[in-house]
Order: sequence, then C-alpha cells, then structure tokens
Amino acid sequence: MPSPSLEQKIATLMADAADDLDSASAGRLPPRLRHANEVGALRPLNIRDLRYGTGRARLLRILMTNACSYNCHYCPMRRDRPMPRTLLKPEELARIFAGALRRNWCDGLFVTTGIPGRPVKVMDDLITALELIRVRDRFGGYIHVKIVPGAEAAQVDRLTELASRVSVNLEAPCGATLSRIAPEKNLDVTLAALERARGRILIRRREERDGRPRDPLRPGGTAGMTMQFVVGATPDTDRTIVDRISGLYAGGGMHHAQFSAFRPISDTPMEGVRATPALREHRLYQADHLLRGYGFSADEVVFDDAGNLPLTTDPKAAWALAHPERFPVEVRTAAREELLRVPGFGPGTARRIVEERGDTLIRGLRDLRKLGAVTSRAAGFITIGGRRVQTLRWEEQMGFWSPEEEAGAYQMLYSVSPGTFR
Ligand code: SF4
Repeated sequence: MPSPSLEQKIATLMADAADDLDSASAGRLPPRLRHANEVGALRPLNIRDLRYGTGRARLLRILMTNACSYNCHYCPMRRDRPMPRTLLKPEELARIFAGALRRNWCDGLFVTTGIPGRPVKVMDDLITALELIRVRDRFGGYIHVKIVPGAEAAQVDRLTELASRVSVNLEAPCGATLSRIAPEKNLDVTLAALERARGRILIRRREERDGRPRDPLRPGGTAGMTMQFVVGATPDTDRTIVDRISGLYAGGGMHHAQFSAFRPISDTPMEGVRATPALREHRLYQADHLLRGYGFSADEVVFDDAGNLPLTTDPKAAWALAHPERFPVEVRTAAREELLRVPGFGPGTARRIVEERGDTLIRGLRDLRKLGAVTSRAAGFITIGGRRVQTLRWEEQMGFWSPEEEAGAYQMLYSVSPGTFR
C-alpha cells in the first residue's frame, strides 16, 4: 500500500485534532477548519526541515489563522481579499502539534498568524498556545513564533521566554516606504517590539554564559531572533536593506534575516506589479552570510550604481573582483580571515585549512577539495606554495548565473505566496 502523501497526512492530522476536541463529530472538522484544505499553500499546516544547532529539526509550520484585519497591499491574507478563512484555537494548535509529535512527523514548531482584530488578543492566543505546549505538554524542543506588530511589552517578554526563537516581520527597511504597501503598519512600532525581544534574549544569553541553569521549559536555550523583508515590494535598494540588517546585527541577539522576493498576488492592489527576481532574494541571502559568517562590514558589500547587489556575480566574488590588490591569497600561510575572503572557501574550509596545514602539506586543488573548497571558484584567487593554479579570468569563472535567465520570463500571478510567511 503506498504511503500517504503529505496532504493526506495533514488532512488526517486536522481530522484527528477535531476528533480529540469533539468525539461526537468524529471524522468531521469543526466549522473553523472546514476550509482549511481550500487555502492551498496558506493552509495552516506544512512541514519543513530546519538546521538547528548541530542537528536538524523537522518543523511543523502552522498559521494560527489566515484571517486578518490589516490590509497590506502585497499580502494574500489582506482584509479585503476574498478567500476562505480558517482559525485554530490555542488548544487546537497545541493538540495538533502534540499529535504530529506523537506520530514522529516533526521535531519542532513554527507558528505565525494573521491579525484578526486586536493584536493584543492574537498575542494572548499565541502565548496560551505556547504555554500549553511548554508547560502542560512539557515540550522542550524548538519553537519559533512571530511577534505581531502592536504586541504589548509584557506579551513580547512572555513569548520570548516561551519560544526558542522569535521573529518580527519588518517587511521594508524604511518606515516611509513601508507605509505605502502596509498603511496600517508602523516600522517604529515593529522595531520597538524587536528591541524589546532583543533585550530579553541578551539577558537570557548573559545568564546562560554566567552558568545559570537553562530554563527547564526551554532546555535548548535561546536561538536568537530573525527579521523578515519583502524584497522588491517597495523601491528600497539592496544597500538600504543591507544597512538596516547590519545595524540590527550590531546590537546582538539577532540570528539571521529572511528575504522574500515579492510575488504579485491576484485580487490585491499590487497584482499588476512585476515579480522580484528570485535571484535578487538569493543575492541578499549571500550578502547576509557575508555579514554574519565572513567578517564583512556593510561598507564592504559591493553594489551597482543603482544601489543594488549585482545579479551577475555573487557578492563575495564581486568584492574579490573589486579588490585585486588582496589576491592571490597563499593558502599555505594566509590567516583564516584572508582565506575567508577567497570565493569558494567557506568558514569551515578556512578553519580546516588552518588546522590541517600544520601537519599536512597542501599540494594542490585536490587537497583543497578534500577540505571542502569549491576549487572551480577559488582557483583563480589563490596560490599554493607560491604557484598560481589557474589562469582563467576571474569574471569567466564566476558566470554561474545571468540576469538574462529572468529576462522575458512569463509574469506569473499568484493566488498565494509561500514565501510570505518566513
Ligand atoms: S502582512 Fe500580516 S498584517 Fe499584513 S495583511 Fe498579511 S497577515 Fe495581515
């Protein structure tokens, strides 16, 4: 017998939750859930892998509700857009998650939500759901939850205590452009919630460093915050976005940024706006990695004349090409920081090169490949024992992507946008 598809599992999971709640209606979904399968990718449930600490966690991704009183122009869940709406109560959310855990479908939870009515009520519901999961059901694994704009300080504190990771949707790096696409949102209000959560996270981390025993409700410790941007929905440049995330990283407590390339959604005020190339989102993720893992400052990131990341070249290669005076790098003697600047060397490779070369002589590209290097990218930027190993022009070896791949592409119109809720 073929194993059930994910859709079938999800349907069963929801039916099980309904059965738990009301045995008299076994096999039937309560009214709030009846449209759950009609909302496509916005269905409240799906499962995704996440790297967490040293391992991986399969996350049950849940929208608590896809109903919303806000009217953000880019969003499929906006108030004025006709679509089936569905809602989970805190108890239902906790039971669905417990059911998924019991069946070994997931190891952790990602929960986000629309904002039907008052943000304070939504936050109360999220807190209640997390308290049920943490305190009553004694789940000590990974939970990621969104803080909604307009949350009260005490609510932010409590949610940050209960979750492994919290996130805020900044949507745009600048308040003025945000108000054009999300008239009811205020960047300062969202940033205030972010700062409140950040303060709690920093306190927790300090306590963990000072040896205070970990909270039994959250034995995995504090995994920091994330922030999310819808890229291309506003005229903000990549430089503005990179400056914003760099400023927020400087305060500590942030784990990473999430970027969603704008997709035009049918029946929204922005359905006629062109989609943002997925490659732009990809470049922003690469630039974010440079800030977080490679010791780059925002000033060092290379932008084009319009203030955007070049699409033709990845940001690390763009920096290398703009700084020929820093190359070639001699792999047998260079410091880890210099190795990190070589395209094709990641943090792990740079560390392994430094560790291994004390005992082993690095003779050629083969040795570097064994240490994790992508030598097709690195070869033009290095010497080994004073010898250049490749004479290709650097630009030639970087041509993995070309913007032409997006040129003339069919303009898709979406009914849902899977990337909206990261
Ligand atoms: S982006 Fe968030 S607040 Fe805005 S309409 Fe969508 S769900 Fe509601």
